[in-house]
Amino acid sequence: MFKNVIAPIQAWLLSQGKCVGCGMPLSKAKSTPYKGNNKMVTCKCNRMYVLDTKANKYRRALLSEI
Ligand SMILES: [Zn+2]
Repeated sequence: MFKNVIAPIQAWLLSQGKCVGCGMPLSKAKSTPYKGNNKMVTCKCNRMYVLDTKANKYRRALLSEI
């Protein structure tokens, strides 16, 4: 039930390049090269994201990628 409300907000935050947990711009977070053109970004709140540097889009890192 809550997921239905929160998911669009998180998607919006990510589309703005911000962490869904703390709202920090992910461009300021630590990043390491990951799978070719991607970067693994670790926020200060320990949430992890994958940045597609071609599309310049963030997504949440999957559990299997961490
Ligand atoms: Zn964060």
